Amino acid sequence: GFEPELSAQPASRAGVFDPYSVKRDFPILQQQVHGKPLIWLDNAATTQKPLSVIDRLSHFYEYENSNIHRAAHALAARSTDAYEAAREKTRRFLKAPSVKGVIFVRGATEAINLVAQAWGRRNVGEGDEIVISWLEHHANIVPWQQLCAEKGARLRVAPVDDCGQIILEEYEKLLNPRTRIVALTQVSNALGTVTPVHELTAMAHRHGARVLIDGAQSVSHLPVDVQSIDCDFFVFSGHKVFGPTGIGVVYGKQEVLEHMPPWQGGGNMIADVTFEKTIYQGAPERFEAGTGNIADAVGLGAALDYVEAIGMEVIARYEHDLLVYAMEKMRTVPGLRFIGTAKEKASVLSFVLDGHETQDVGKALDREGIAVRAGHHCAQPILRRFGLEATVRPSLAFYNTCEDVDALVAALLRLQAGYG
Ligand code: PLP
Repeated sequence: GFEPELSAQPASRAGVFDPYSVKRDFPILQQQVHGKPLIWLDNAATTQKPLSVIDRLSHFYEYENSNIHRAAHALAARSTDAYEAAREKTRRFLKAPSVKGVIFVRGATEAINLVAQAWGRRNVGEGDEIVISWLEHHANIVPWQQLCAEKGARLRVAPVDDCGQIILEEYEKLLNPRTRIVALTQVSNALGTVTPVHELTAMAHRHGARVLIDGAQSVSHLPVDVQSIDCDFFVFSGHKVFGPTGIGVVYGKQEVLEHMPPWQGGGNMIADVTFEKTIYQGAPERFEAGTGNIADAVGLGAALDYVEAIGMEVIARYEHDLLVYAMEKMRTVPGLRFIGTAKEKASVLSFVLDGHETQDVGKALDREGIAVRAGHHCAQPILRRFGLEATVRPSLAFYNTCEDVDALVAALLRLQAGYG
């Protein structure tokens, strides 16, 4: 195997986490915007990339670029090794039992569509039910709605309480022998709620349903162990965990993938083709038709190396403290109301501010070099559950610091005082 020496600079030395050292590893965070140091608080939309990921991508294109699996030459072997090494890094990151259960796709959206179509079309029929929650991102609503429309199945939605937590008793009432699959987020992108995925999965399994966990917002904040969750599918996007755009992952349990027909047809996914009959590969190749996003898979592998060199437990602990600090500080801003106050919460600090349109708050913060999202966050149902069409949404990552939070709060206080 050909693995270049581009390992991450460990940002935790002797177990002491240093966010300033992490921040220095991210070149994009060193710039000024509107004459102010950039403060990136739009991590729920996408995360920035450490130098090790950027270097790994250019290394791939400088030394390794080739299509995989097909040719007998040196570069094909290098790119195949790099791609398969990334699959192994992803397996390790998710604590999956085998690389055969790790499928590369473009992102979480494509991942959910793959499951809804390949698994769903075979396993969901008329009168069957699919359960989601009010917290879901549009990516975990629309593909199921489409499947239900095609099959005459019914979409059922588990409600949340006023803090933005799934109401477990109501969720359990929705489960019955007709429930084919439950698709739930692990962290809400709009509110930051961390859902009890172990419990939710066990409850669904008791009713014989499969479970998909949308990890788009969880993988960068919490350690994930798909075997301990016991979910049948787990999906995420590379770009939300400090990797490139255009790469994402479906993890699937071996016994489920074995009985799942292919999604798209084409090269790579076949064992043998005649005009009469095609024999498909097993997983994961069966689900990776055509030339995939080889370089960005390799880049994702570098991103996972980077976070694992620090440790997801270390990152989770640091971010929890930063979130608590941020919520305490932000509560000092007059007229600020948090949307989403779950006991278990990660990264996201959605709020509305009395007397100000969310868009105007977003623009005012941008003038101070502070990047946040203001809008519906592709999760309209959950915002409407709180009577809103939009919120301002700062979202934290491990390179954010107390100073970033202080700058945000100072800008909001100035805005409320009328000179923002
Ligand atoms: N699920 C959740 C919870 C998300 O936050 C997102 C992105 O915002 C997605 C799914 C979709 O991810 P992508 O747009 O990378 O496919």
